Amino acid sequence: MKVPFLDLAAAIAEHREDFDAAWRRVTSRGAFVLGDEVAAFEREFADYCGARHCIGVASGLDALRLVFEGARVVPGDEVIVPAYTAVATWMATTSVGAQPVGVDVDARTFNLDPALVERAITERTRAIVAVHLFGKPADMAALKAIAAKHDLLLLEDAAQAHGAAIDGHRTGSLAHAAAFSFYPTKNLGCFGDGGAVTTDDDELAERVRLLRSYGWRDRSVSEIFGVNSRLDELQAAFLRVRLAALDADNERRRRLARLYREALEGVEGLELPVESDQSVDVWHVYASQVSDRPAVVGNLSASGVGTLVHYEPIPHLTPAYRAIGWKRGDFPVAEQLASRELSLPMYPQLTDGALDAIVAAIRS
Ligand SMILES: *Cc1c(COP(=O)(O)O)cnc(C)c1O
Repeated sequence: MKVPFLDLAAAIAEHREDFDAAWRRVTSRGAFVLGDEVAAFEREFADYCGARHCIGVASGLDALRLVFEGARVVPGDEVIVPAYTAVATWMATTSVGAQPVGVDVDARTFNLDPALVERAITERTRAIVAVHLFGKPADMAALKAIAAKHDLLLLEDAAQAHGAAIDGHRTGSLAHAAAFSFYPTKNLGCFGDGGAVTTDDDELAERVRLLRSYGWRDRSVSEIFGVNSRLDELQAAFLRVRLAALDADNERRRRLARLYREALEGVEGLELPVESDQSVDVWHVYASQVSDRPAVVGNLSASGVGTLVHYEPIPHLTPAYRAIGWKRGDFPVAEQLASRELSLPMYPQLTDGALDAIVAAIRS
């Protein structure tokens, strides 16, 4: 049995008629930029997250950048970012001229280690970016306390954690502001690029809203310098369809995570990701660890099972960041995790038969 790492066509097929209706609705209206669909999606997603504001933007990277610009993070400022994350978290910081200050992660959760965050703070630190990596919320209580103590902006990078929650509060409402990506493979994905900022801060929301479209409140009247980073009507219409199914889809991921654990716990050479009872994890990625990754990948591939590695290299070991002085040894925990990480197939449409085939392949 062939089991692809991801099957987006299967996800889209589940809502084919609703997507077709969304397409007809938008194209018959003939308005494609910042219209009714974006406004409706922004309302619905803000409500879903439990935030006052949602501003649709063009990507997850832009969501992070526009929060920095909206909050006036400026060149020379330092921003604390986890060593283990998608490169976008670091790039967003670099692209506004700020200095990403990497901090090592907790070996069990892959998320920021709050004890190390405190030590990385200097008088130039402006912000902390808490990434909810692989769908597991970061330790927000500890990070909030640190941010409050040092008067820092705390930002969620929630690109992998739509619908995840702590104590009944969903991501998007757990810090000063949050950045989401709707890249097609995310738990809530569109048919191209898209993103959003959520926040309770009226002034920040207002500035991000202006920044995303040339600084315009009224068309062609630039009140501040902005960019073109808009979520478009079609993507918003498709996202509304998928948002309605998000909780059910996340529940299917959570069930698969339980089945993986039941079937694979105790297999020698394989370490499974931890399930937290402190939070609702939404399993964007099922990140296991193996001791002999090339052999495991090769054998699974020969059995028809697709896997991926998230991430090789991690941000500070990419050529771009090595060129400005980062090096192996800077983050021992993250580097060790990255050398062993292996992502197994994890998506709502993964069938029980496919899961059995993956388990059999791993066990053999
Ligand atoms: C995907 C992702 C982003 C960036 O999103 P894009 O829409 O691809 O720009 C940022 N942070 C994390 C953790 C991500 O996984």
